[in-house]
Amino acid sequence: MNIASRAKTSKVAARPLGLALANKGNLELTFIGAGSAFSKKYFQNNLLIVKGQTHVLVDCGSRAPEALSLLGLRVSQIDRFLITHTHADHIGGLEEVMLTNRFVAHRKPRIILTGKLQKILWDQSLRGGASWNEVVDGQPLGFGDFWDPERPRRVKDADREYSVWSEGDLEIGLFRTKHIPDSSAGWEDSFPSYGLLIDQRVLFTSDTRFDRDLVVSMDAAHSLETIFHDCQFYKGGVHASLEELTRLPAKIKAKTWLMHYGDAMEDKRQAIKEAGFAGFAEEWATYSF
Ligand SMILES: [Zn+2]
Ligand SMILES: [Zn+2]
Repeated sequence: MNIASRAKTSKVAARPLGLALANKGNLELTFIGAGSAFSKKYFQNNLLIVKGQTHVLVDCGSRAPEALSLLGLRVSQIDRFLITHTHADHIGGLEEVMLTNRFVAHRKPRIILTGKLQKILWDQSLRGGASWNEVVDGQPLGFGDFWDPERPRRVKDADREYSVWSEGDLEIGLFRTKHIPDSSAGWEDSFPSYGLLIDQRVLFTSDTRFDRDLVVSMDAAHSLETIFHDCQFYKGGVHASLEELTRLPAKIKAKTWLMHYGDAMEDKRQAIKEAGFAGFAEEWATYSF
């Protein structure tokens, strides 16, 4: 894996950075942001996947349109979105995406999500800001007026709820995580949230509480090359704490990059190095495989 960083000082550059939406066919992952939900120093943990002519923006938080703009992209240039769950740091930018696409760019982006998540996303999050902007044949707009949904195919007999989406030679597996509420025992009784297995080589947890079995079993099944795991610097809460993650086997920690971090990240660099992690995923850096 190669890492190409973009200087953070570029954030204030007059000319935005160009971030390409296509490449020669290798897998490239760029963190549009890598901060926690309420971070003020880092953008939110949203990831751009590019492989050949295909690109997917994984989550689009409330600050994602700003981050994309600084990287030289408009939200209407993104062809395809994938939503892992309905917290605002993952979906808060979607109203801008919907309204800009429908009323300015006059196009309908694709969105990868399960039927279960689509219903939650529309009925409980997006409808209020989107539906009544236009009435067609006496009806306010619906999800399908803004989006072209793509359903991942469910894999039967998987250890946990698992479905797969693919296009060309990019494959993304979606597995359930145990994120909220903090009282849930496992993924089964958690509100729907998904992590990703990208090309069977990279694990991207999105948001989950510590789930040793998930990481260890995914690594055993796929000999993972790299893991991007969410973290928090305190105990309790709805993400894996640094203390819990430190208990993972050394060989797993060595390929694990921590993401979705709080503003105290710089103060923790030495500690995570000593604990044996690969490092912090850096926002705006492109990880190439
Ligand atoms: Zn989050
Ligand atoms: Zn979340």
